[in-house]
Amino acid sequence: MLAIVVWLIGMLVFFFVLFNVIQHALNTSNMAKDLAEIKELLRERAASRAPASPPPVPGDIPELRKIYDRCPGCGHIVEARAAVCPECGLNLS
Ligand SMILES: [Zn+2]
Repeated sequence: MLAIVVWLIGMLVFFFVLFNVIQHALNTSNMAKDLAEIKELLRERAASRAPASPPPVPGDIPELRKIYDRCPGCGHIVEARAAVCPECGLNLS
């Protein structure tokens, strides 16, 4: 019985030491430094990025402005000839 308890405690200590050795090796590895550098670069890029402009819509292109229009109700792009907005059902005629 005592032998089993001693063995269990021994294994616990062994795995605790093993875990800490591996964790320390990972934290001080070049890969960890590279990852920290990449994270920092991404954070800087995200902070300096200008707010995204809305994507161009057919209504903003003069040639297509005659064919397409924006629904005054929901802003969905609809054909200028459409009588009803397919998105919200607003009567456009
Ligand atoms: Zn609509």
